[in-house]
Amino acid sequence: MTHYVCATCGTQFPDSDAPPPDCPICQDQRQYVGANGQQWTTLDALKAKHHTHIAPEEPGLYGVGMEPGFAINQRALLVQRPDGNILWDCITVLDDMAVTTINALGGIKAIAISHPHYYSSMVEWSHAFDAPVYLHAADQQWVMRPDASIRYWDGETCPLGDGITLVRCGGHFAGGTVLHWDAGAEGRGVLLTGDIINVVPDRRYVSFMYSFPNLIPLNARAVRQVADAVEPFEYSRIYGAWWGRVVPDDAKAAVRRSADRYIRAIEDGLPA
Ligand SMILES: [Zn+2]
Ligand SMILES: [Zn+2]
Repeated sequence: MTHYVCATCGTQFPDSDAPPPDCPICQDQRQYVGANGQQWTTLDALKAKHHTHIAPEEPGLYGVGMEPGFAINQRALLVQRPDGNILWDCITVLDDMAVTTINALGGIKAIAISHPHYYSSMVEWSHAFDAPVYLHAADQQWVMRPDASIRYWDGETCPLGDGITLVRCGGHFAGGTVLHWDAGAEGRGVLLTGDIINVVPDRRYVSFMYSFPNLIPLNARAVRQVADAVEPFEYSRIYGAWWGRVVPDDAKAAVRRSADRYIRAIEDGLPA
């Protein structure tokens, strides 16, 4: 019996003798099946070729990625808090180096994930660190490997204590979530957004999409909903889903002007 992993999205599936027939996450319009058809791998096969890479982002925040890159190749983030650390988003590869390094940084109290594209091997991480996984209930249908460690939360916000709050934005996924960390950026506040609020190469801006690989935009109502969901929170910095995708300062204004620009573009044509 093997926990197969989809090679395109990095999601781990329940125990089975043979690879699953398909990956529902990649069959969905927000992902894709590669030109060579559905490919499967396993955690052991991945660990032979990939390792985890952990590096500081700012005081109290570490990036957790994979080298060489795999699947969507997001990097997760570890937020260090006095009452226990939070792992934001997740990656497929989990090796001894990650366990040793993260335990030396204080372990993991809870895991929270922005949306199904980063569910990856969350159950392996949960078991390795004895930490529950917080997912928004609106995306429950996309959990491929159910487990008792998963805690579904409902509504618009979920406080995890210690100045950490999960905020449901919707948009890219119905349960699309970001994490607010009030003490981040030297106390000015930080948002960890995955690709729910996607930091673009021009780091003065962010963007919002229904499907990134298939370039399907969100409508104006959904973009406004995402921007409105984070408006009550104080923050000056955003960490997106990949290394280097960071709005270092003035991020709250960046979200406002990006939502305005996006809505102008889809309603009236290209921005002037
Ligand atoms: Zn997949
Ligand atoms: Zn995504």
